[in-house]
This record gives sequence, structure tokens and C-alpha cells, in this order.
Amino acid sequence: MTTEQRLLASLPAVDEILKSEQGALWQQSFPRRYVLRAIRDVIERYRRAMLKKECEDFSLDLLLSEMQTHMEKLSEFSLRPVINATGIVIHTNLGRSVLPEAVLENVKTVACNYSNLEYDFEQGLRGKRYSHIQTLLREITGAEAGLVVNNNAAAVLVCLSALSKGKEVIVSRGELVEIGGSFRIPDVMSSSGAILKEVGTTNKTHISDYEQAINENTGLLLKVHQSNFKITGFTQSVTIEDLAVLGKKYNIPVMFDLGSGCLVDLKSLKIPIEPPVQDIVRSGTDIVTFSGDKLLGGPQGGVIVGKSQLIEIIAKNPLMRAVRIDKMTLAALEAVLMIYLDDVNAWTRIPTLNMLLQDSEIIKERAEAIALQIKTDPGFSRKDCASVDVIKDVSQSGGGALPGTEFETFAVAIRPLNISVNFLEERLRRGNPPIVARIKEDALLIDARTVRDSEIVILVNRVKAALV
Ligand SMILES: *Cc1c(COP(=O)(O)O)cnc(C)c1O
Repeated sequence: MTTEQRLLASLPAVDEILKSEQGALWQQSFPRRYVLRAIRDVIERYRRAMLKKECEDFSLDLLLSEMQTHMEKLSEFSLRPVINATGIVIHTNLGRSVLPEAVLENVKTVACNYSNLEYDFEQGLRGKRYSHIQTLLREITGAEAGLVVNNNAAAVLVCLSALSKGKEVIVSRGELVEIGGSFRIPDVMSSSGAILKEVGTTNKTHISDYEQAINENTGLLLKVHQSNFKITGFTQSVTIEDLAVLGKKYNIPVMFDLGSGCLVDLKSLKIPIEPPVQDIVRSGTDIVTFSGDKLLGGPQGGVIVGKSQLIEIIAKNPLMRAVRIDKMTLAALEAVLMIYLDDVNAWTRIPTLNMLLQDSEIIKERAEAIALQIKTDPGFSRKDCASVDVIKDVSQSGGGALPGTEFETFAVAIRPLNISVNFLEERLRRGNPPIVARIKEDALLIDARTVRDSEIVILVNRVKAALV
């Protein structure tokens, strides 16, 4: 036997490890298939290294610990928490709205028990799934009735299909928008069977443009929130109030796809936030649709509120079955809407609104706390591995809400001295828990707006580990 053959022969067999005490323990904590795969992979890696003469010896303890790390990695959840250091509050790629903790209690109770999801206690008969949020939606928005579906894209689709299949829907050319993830108004329109009737130009549309386009086959007047862009300069668009008046004159329903849809009036806070859903409803708009997980700050969902006669037609549309909301979402949404009954303080209890509207002094304090904790670490200050400063910057709301509005924020700017800023960004992103931050000029920016207080310690530790 050569030394190499002897070395190879000394590697344990898969079965041997599987049957060992350690193997038995692993099988109690990890799925057997991952235990097996991890043992095989690590042994195979060592075997190859030995054949290439890259490994002359090994320790069984190290082998076992590598196997354990591997199976831990294999059995990790794919969907898991991330520290959002981008400052973008409604970050679609990072899960949009962060739900209030208290809401989860309700989800748990409903999800882990049978419920009256579609059961009417009074009559002992089948009830309606939407009935659970009807009253709340009426109370909060002032609308006659409300429905909820899977997301706002589905809400728009089902409304168009129910109200204007085979009929013309008049939309301004300035509002034929594309929202991220291939939601394009003209495409949704054709999927619903409605006929798009464009009016006006990209920058200007007048009420007379709508009026001239009305004919006996007009099914709906649609207004779409521009959401993720702003046209500035020589522009004109028709207000929802004027459109509502026009609709009434010709007896044609008016719908507003509001996209984000805020449920609180923040004028008193002097925040340049758009009119709340309540104002749109009051303007006489027949149907308003908006997302559950944008400014509302709840779970993914598409809320439809408006005139009961139209809501009833929409509820009966066959597409409703395909886009229906599940019980966990419904439980979460009901709990979030409950918070909105307190219309003065609601925003402080909804993390999305709270992060968006928090005082910049508070963000500054958080940024300073993070910077100080990094800088005062003995290992860090000894090695002189980066410059760390708190800087003033701006963050965006994200989520197609408030385009062009910049929110003053504070960030920790880190300029590493021994590694590149890109490498630092990658290390933070790929570690555990992942930290998503942005690079500006030659610095990595940790925007303190979206970092939760409970995340500071772990964030600081990860940053230090990535730098030193
Ligand atoms: C975001 C948005 C949508 C899509 O809403 P989802 O809840 O993401 O499906 C539709 N219309 C507008 C105007 C939007 O801003």
C-alpha cells in the first residue's frame, strides 16, 4: 500500500458515521437525507483532495464538524430574516411591510385552530370570507363596502373583469404604468377582457379628453396612481374629484388604482404624503383599490372598497375564487386594520409608517450608537481597519409610494482600509443574518432608518467580523 492508499483507506465509511453515536444524534436533529448528503459530500471532498495530494492528513473531529456545518446549512430555512440597512422602508425584494408583533398572535390563534372563516354562527350556514374585514373597512375608509383579494394586482384584474369585460376603459396615457414585477396596465387590461381606450398625452390629459372618448360601450373611467415615477415640468392630469363628477354625469363607474393607499391622514405631521384612502372615497370615486403591504403596513393583499352595488358585482366574478385571500392573511389584515381604528396614534404602532415617519433625530441617534459600538471595539480600534462616520443622507419610501419624495436620514458610512468596499458589502450580504446595505461613492452606507433597535448588536458584531 502506498502512503496515499493508506490515507484514503483511513477515511471513515459513510455507513460507519451514520451508525455512530454522532450519526444517531444528527438524525434526531436533521432530516436523514441531509445527514447522509453532508457525510457523503465531506468524505468525497477529502478523498479528492487526497488524490490531488492537497491533503496529507486529517482529523476525525474536524471532519465531523465540517459535516455538521454542512447539514446545518442544508437544513436552513430558505426564507429567513434579513437586516435591511438600505433605508428603503417598503422594499419589495426584502418582504415589503414588517408586521406589528401583536398581529402575529392573531394569526397563530386563527391558523392553529378551526375558525369561522366561511361560517355564519347566526344562521349555522356558510358565511363569507370577506365578512371579517367588511365592517373595519367601512369604519376606516368610509366606503359602503369592501373586499380583499391576494394582492392589488389581482384586485385591479378582478375589478376590470367584473366591471368592464368587453367594454372600453378610459385611461390617461400618462397613467399607463408598469409596476415592478411585470404588472403593466395595458397587459392587465387585456387579460381582464376590457378594451383599453387611451386618452391625452404622456404629460397632459384634460377632463375633456375623457369626455370626448365616452361612448355607449364605455364601461369604466380608470385613474392609476403613477406610483414609481413623477412627471415634472409642463404637465396636467385630471383630479379624481373631477373624474368622479364626470362619471356621475354619464352614469359610468370611476375606479382609482391607488397602489399604495395610506389609511391615515398625515397632513398634521407635515409629511408630504398623499391623500388618504378616506379622502378618495369621499370624492365620490366608485371603486378604490390598494395594496395591503405598502403604506398600509399589513400583509400582502389587495383591498377593494367602494359602492356596495359594484362590490357585489365584483364579489360574484368567477376570478374571485382564483385570487381569494387565505385565512392567515385575513387574520393578519383584520388585526392590522384594528390598529387603524385609533386614527391618531395608529402610525406609531405600524412599523412601516413608524420607520417612514420617525424623527430624523431618532435615526441620527441610532446611527451614532451603531458607529460608536463599532469604533470602540478593542479589536477594531487596534487594527485601524476602516473609517467609520455618521453622515446625513436621504432614503426613499420604496414600494411605489411617494415617488420623488426624499426622507432625510442618517447612515453609518464605512470605508474599509484593508478590503474593498464591494467585498465588505458582499461579506455582509452573504453572512448570517444577511445584511443588505448600499454603496455610495467609496463607502458602505448602513442607513439607520430601517435598522431595528433589536438588530443593532448583531449588526455591529457582523460588521466588526467582516472588517477585522
Ligand atoms: C404596487 C401597485 C400595484 C400592484 O400591487 P401589488 O399589491 O404589489 O400586487 C398596482 N397598481 C399600482 C398603482 C401600484 O402602485
